[in-house]
Amino acid sequence: MPSETPASSEVLHGWDRVIGQRRAKDLLQRAVSSGQVAHAYLFAGPEGVGADALALELARVLNCEEGGAVACDRCASCRAMQTLQHPNVHLVFPLPVGKNEKQGDDPLTVLTDDQVVAVRDVIAAKAADPYARMEIPRATSIKINSIRAIKREASMSQPTRGRNVFVLLQAELMGADASNSLLKTLEEPLADTVLLLTTSERDALLPTIVSRCQQIICDRLGEDEIEDALRRRDGIPEDAAHLASEMAGGSYTAARDLLSTDVQAQRVRAVAFLRMILAKQRLPLIQEIELLASSNDRPGVERWMRLLGGWLRDALMMSEGRPVHSEGEDRVALENFCSRFPGADLPAAVQRVERAIADLDKNGYLVLVLISLALDLRTCITQSAD
Ligand SMILES: [Zn+2]
Repeated sequence: MPSETPASSEVLHGWDRVIGQRRAKDLLQRAVSSGQVAHAYLFAGPEGVGADALALELARVLNCEEGGAVACDRCASCRAMQTLQHPNVHLVFPLPVGKNEKQGDDPLTVLTDDQVVAVRDVIAAKAADPYARMEIPRATSIKINSIRAIKREASMSQPTRGRNVFVLLQAELMGADASNSLLKTLEEPLADTVLLLTTSERDALLPTIVSRCQQIICDRLGEDEIEDALRRRDGIPEDAAHLASEMAGGSYTAARDLLSTDVQAQRVRAVAFLRMILAKQRLPLIQEIELLASSNDRPGVERWMRLLGGWLRDALMMSEGRPVHSEGEDRVALENFCSRFPGADLPAAVQRVERAIADLDKNGYLVLVLISLALDLRTCITQSAD
């Protein structure tokens, strides 16, 4: 995130805490209103689109003392949810393995003091922001002991109000033993207990787990939804919010990541790449491609590609006389580009970048993806020039 304090960040209520996801929200509210809440849900979608936020909001609604399909945000239960210190709501997530940890040990009591502090910090961050990442050093998998604790805790506490809700974050990080243990719990649903699993990698889950949960597919967010969220939640100025939302590939957290790196500097680098493609000398282009590929940082290359695609899209808008969010040198570069290549097939160029991003996702050989992108972009841009 940018270092300056956000200009304004609104206090959000009820389902508004979840960005977009209208379809999923409607489905869940209908389930609550009609008393047809399933005993297990799987919230699946790309990272940063709001699977965790949806699950946590449902946990809040299921325990709200008002009993409606929207959390009241006033009752004792809703207040407890503000800090995620709720007697009925249990978070399950990857934890570091403790020293000499044995089967049956409480997964939290085996941690060192530092690790306990780290766990407390990520829970506090998640409570303040359901889009926060749960990053604890050396926490690489959900422990079987954490899954076993579900059954124990569910049978120990019979809530007088609401329901026991277990929220399993990053469910794809369950190992085989934890998965099998969870499967048993899913096969014999516990009374007054709801399991909410979230994942960005549904294919990494046991198919038998997936099939025993009602699935809530979380869609990629619209650019307008991300831009609005960045401005309202994070107080990001309009221009930066617009730029980041265009390049985030439908993920709110990806947009925030972009804002924490220097978007403008990266954009300058993407424009420099276009110049190299169009220049007669090939050596700088080859060097840049080698540099990009050598890091083998696919998320970084993807961000860079999105910036490149965003710049080409701005050039397209400008060539059609539509308003473009750009100023200073960037605007001059766009204007020069448009006047120098009036016959450029910019829609094809934008599509070509999208295809390169898809190739990255398919684990294409990085240097090859970049070289063929460069050659094709050159054709798109220069096809009817001079
Ligand atoms: Zn309430």
